[in-house]
Amino acid sequence: MKLSILISASEAVPFAKSGGLADVIGSLPKYLKKMGHDVRVVIPRYYEIDKEQWGLRLLPGVLVIPMGILGEKYAAVYEGRMPDTDVPIYFIEHEGYYGRNGLYGEDNIAFPDNDQRFIFLSKATLELCKMINFKPDIVHANDWHTALIPFFMDTTYKNDSYAGKVASLLTIHNMEYQGNFRLSTMDIIDTGWEHFNFLEIEKHDWVNFLKAGVYHATILSTVSEGYAKEIQTPEYGWGLEGVLQERADDLYGILNGVDYSKWSPEADTLITSKYSVDDLSGKALCKKDIQRIAGLPERKEVPLIGMVGRLVKQKGIDIFAAALPKLLELDIQIVMLGEGEPWAHFYFGGMAAKHPQKFFCQIGYDNTLAHKIEAGADFFLMPSAFEPCGLNQMYSMRYGTLPIVRATGGLDDSVENFDEEKGTGTGFKFWDLTPGALFDTVGWAVYTWYNKKSAIKGLIKNAMNKRFTWEDAAKKYEQLYLKGVKYRREV
Ligand code: ADP
Repeated sequence: MKLSILISASEAVPFAKSGGLADVIGSLPKYLKKMGHDVRVVIPRYYEIDKEQWGLRLLPGVLVIPMGILGEKYAAVYEGRMPDTDVPIYFIEHEGYYGRNGLYGEDNIAFPDNDQRFIFLSKATLELCKMINFKPDIVHANDWHTALIPFFMDTTYKNDSYAGKVASLLTIHNMEYQGNFRLSTMDIIDTGWEHFNFLEIEKHDWVNFLKAGVYHATILSTVSEGYAKEIQTPEYGWGLEGVLQERADDLYGILNGVDYSKWSPEADTLITSKYSVDDLSGKALCKKDIQRIAGLPERKEVPLIGMVGRLVKQKGIDIFAAALPKLLELDIQIVMLGEGEPWAHFYFGGMAAKHPQKFFCQIGYDNTLAHKIEAGADFFLMPSAFEPCGLNQMYSMRYGTLPIVRATGGLDDSVENFDEEKGTGTGFKFWDLTPGALFDTVGWAVYTWYNKKSAIKGLIKNAMNKRFTWEDAAKKYEQLYLKGVKYRREV
């Protein structure tokens, strides 16, 4: 069955990105289109999205968005295409809401009107259907920013001739961010105070956008099967585990795919030498390259551990920081790239200055260096406290860079632990979120590196042959869309 699918989100590669959400929205539509579906995407027209560069076309007319106590507001709509596809993408234009630097805030401080900005996006998504005469079979919302869409479809837009009685899917890419706002936000949402109850939109006396979506969406998903189970527990549910348990039957996990046209050692244009599973000689050159960039001794035999990511607690950098002094007593090298919490910049910067022969840390965002680390390192460390999906461990497997991960969420789902007896696996795992467990597991990997060369060779081969494709992921999304459409018809 050919479906009409409307995907709404706050970011999409290559237009605007702050994290993994943008990668999903940038890739999934292309594969759904290849499968024959009519798919359209909606995001805000942030200031940084250049209309000329992307060849955007202003559509005739305006959207009239009812914003409750604030009255009606107006949006212009620009139309473009997702790169290398004919998938239409619509940009919601509002100078007051999106005509500024930053997606959600500036200097780590959230914009005070984020409630308005994303109520506006959610309603604009539904209003857009009329303007472009598109009657979706399913509306796919993502994270708290667009989580109100399923809620509005059940309330304000219940009898709308385009969006009324249509199925919805809400995908949660990260449970930590929920969109919590003061009570006055209810007057802008404007669906009536009867919805401000502990089942629907209220959480500890705050208005919670994600909760409303979890309650109202026809079907729910998150970005790994492991995380789908974890978020139903107090440790990972961030206070929404109760509503998620209520909806457990409708909650699925679909692991993200990888864009292998950008992330594979045969195709990567950013690394110093290409290589493949049959000929790893280029990988040795990549290792030399990263050692040179990092100012580390160019030793072939020393195990080099890479790390790339946001330097925030989610990524387990606190336990890594605690384990680092002891790790640096081993004969290893560590190359770190990331930005995030100020304490981490000071601590890791300081440690790098103190141990220039063993530890290198670059603070900032640098895509080229991220590719070079993936290719040049021998191991890739991700000690995350929680990880909805995680991309870097999947990239690193493709580059034959063995992941050392904490077994949580998508990390647990995608990495198979080394089995010394059978010689199977694609990486090394630990379970306890402690500096000791991290140290022991890095120690295990390093021991294996120095003493069991053939086991390492086997692991590299297994890892490089593993695939996480968007074709597979898109088929699973298609199944969920069909399920959603069927449920909605039956109700
Ligand atoms: P999250 O979405 O939680 O940040 P993911 O592993 O899903 O984590 O995705 C992170 C993506 O961002 C990866 O593609 C990674 O390479 C990239 N990335 C993160 N930090 C940096 C950085 N400092 N420089 C370059 N790329 C980075």
